[in-house]
Amino acid sequence: MSFSDFHGNSELVHSVRDMLARDRFPHAVILAGPSGSGKYTLSTMIARAMNCLERPIVDGLPDFCGKCSNCVRIAEMEDLESRCAEATEARENLKEAEKRETRLLVQTHPDVLAIPPDPPQMMIKVDQVRRVIDSIYFRPGEGRERVFIFTDSAFMKEAANSLLKVLEEPPEFATIFLLAENSGELLPTIRSRCMTLQLRSLSLSEIEDYLARHHPEWKPQQRALVARLSEGAVGRARNFDLEGYAASRADALTILRTAMRATDHGELFKITETYRAGAEGREKIERLLRCLYSLLQDLMFLEAKSNALVRNTDIIGELQKLSQSADFDWLSSAAQRLGEVERGLRRNLLRSLSLDAFEAALEKTTA
Ligand SMILES: [Zn+2]
Repeated sequence: MSFSDFHGNSELVHSVRDMLARDRFPHAVILAGPSGSGKYTLSTMIARAMNCLERPIVDGLPDFCGKCSNCVRIAEMEDLESRCAEATEARENLKEAEKRETRLLVQTHPDVLAIPPDPPQMMIKVDQVRRVIDSIYFRPGEGRERVFIFTDSAFMKEAANSLLKVLEEPPEFATIFLLAENSGELLPTIRSRCMTLQLRSLSLSEIEDYLARHHPEWKPQQRALVARLSEGAVGRARNFDLEGYAASRADALTILRTAMRATDHGELFKITETYRAGAEGREKIERLLRCLYSLLQDLMFLEAKSNALVRNTDIIGELQKLSQSADFDWLSSAAQRLGEVERGLRRNLLRSLSLDAFEAALEKTTA
């Protein structure tokens, strides 16, 4: 593991390493970029480079070895989702009084702390910022730099105000990272105290290259599909559930086909049956809705003769066939009905009912 494992944004990574080389890395940094662009991964890599016991020089710039005790322990925080799930579960097992006072924090190395949004509100709370204030002025114990990573830009008001105080005068041995999809989500007074580093989305070919390395078992066609569906977010591409997507898409295609032709309903009823109950029902239907949207959108692209924008490229033949029986009006009213189903879901209507209503409504527009 080293900086060369970070995919995309190579100019930005180069300037980060250059700042490290010149000992000019700022004490407060906003890492901004779309979801899945690698903000958290990059921040933990910088934390490793700051604290690596070997600190190798690669291509003339500082890197991290990935093997020393500091690198290994910091790497354990990389899977943020699992670490947060563990911390949340640990809190659930506490006594009521302790539970109230315990805030979510992720720490696998004594000098590096990640501060994720605290459930159930999923915001960063003042007690979490207090934990940072309490520890930031102690010199690092096992590394050279204390690193604090706020993984989300949603701060409670009081928390944001406390953060401001730390940002005014961070100690010389500490670095604070604020991760945000959009730096504009942070208060201007916070922004003005930080350097903003902007990560951009990756191009389709960059993501396809990445997938060729990390999912060699996928066919080129499948890699092209996942690259298009993950919208430039390498994190989303890496964890893409290709099998789940294919299953939902097959159902979505049947629904659209039946609605357009309004003939044989046997196959359709078999599908809606499977969406009726079960604990995982909600997730399954949400995936189906996303697939329906993406197919409708592709059909619109075909209708507009913008074939290059189609995302479900692996089934373009099938889509072209479908597009012959749909015009703009039908497609836009279908998208509208789909919006109604989604709103119904949010109001917790019976899942199956709203899905049936969607089919019925689509067929009415066909007639
Ligand atoms: Zn190391």
